[in-house]
Amino acid sequence: MKKSLILTLLLLSFSSFSFEWISNGGGTVIGNGAGLVESNFQYAYDSLKKILPHCFQKNVCDLLDEEKKIIKSITTIVHMNSDKEDRLVFLSEKENPGFFTTGVSEPHRIAKTFLNPNAPIYINTDLLYKSAGQPALSFQDILRILIHELGHQTGEQGHASLDILGGKVALFSEKNTNYYQYKINNQQKLTFTVTNFEFPVKSSIVIFNWHNDVAVDLSEIIILGSECNHRSESFAGLEVINGHYSINDQGNLSFEAWINVECFESFSGQSFIYKRDMSIDLDENYKIKGVFIK
Ligand SMILES: [Zn+2]
Repeated sequence: MKKSLILTLLLLSFSSFSFEWISNGGGTVIGNGAGLVESNFQYAYDSLKKILPHCFQKNVCDLLDEEKKIIKSITTIVHMNSDKEDRLVFLSEKENPGFFTTGVSEPHRIAKTFLNPNAPIYINTDLLYKSAGQPALSFQDILRILIHELGHQTGEQGHASLDILGGKVALFSEKNTNYYQYKINNQQKLTFTVTNFEFPVKSSIVIFNWHNDVAVDLSEIIILGSECNHRSESFAGLEVINGHYSINDQGNLSFEAWINVECFESFSGQSFIYKRDMSIDLDENYKIKGVFIK
């Protein structure tokens, strides 16, 4: 049985949704509005719920026993602070002189927090963008920073050991991530970023970055569109593979990929994999028109 799902209804309210998300998505945003890097911080914080169990369980991150303890505590904190409005607070060092200066032991202050899981992580907005406005931090940089600060929130005081731990998590995430870039012209490009995780279930994070400006997480929409073939089956995970771009008959760009949907049949106790074709169609202004899964 082949099903065609057109998720335009969901996408009708899409642009307003994405902007609202940036301002209300669990972070208090102070200062000059919320741009791409700020929203990537929020995504990264949420994605730790997927990254850390995989990293920990199979030990693909090469963790020492001491580091495992910290990762376990960080995972608890991330879940605990899931809906906390001020888990991340963005503010400018220039407007708050001295706020990010905490002594010689840690000179480069892009973020700070306290040895307490209820404290916010403060992010220095002066260091998030280059002078021309491009993001100064990659998703992996952000993961490193968050692991470092969340590590402090578990009570760990050592900066160097937390840098090493953050590096391990970022490296693991990088290995599982594919970047699909499309250059519109010399100034503008768009990117689909796909990260696949295997534990506790197969899952993907798909993020669309447009004009260095707006980041949209498509992961939930893709899950909604990836049903199992039979009613007796329940959804058990998915992976997004083989991403590529194509141009349609109207001359507009689409990002295409395969989705492997894993389904569990409880009578037989068997798992099945169903292959789907996904097409994310963009309009002439490179905005998302629809997500089609068939
Ligand atoms: Zn530190």
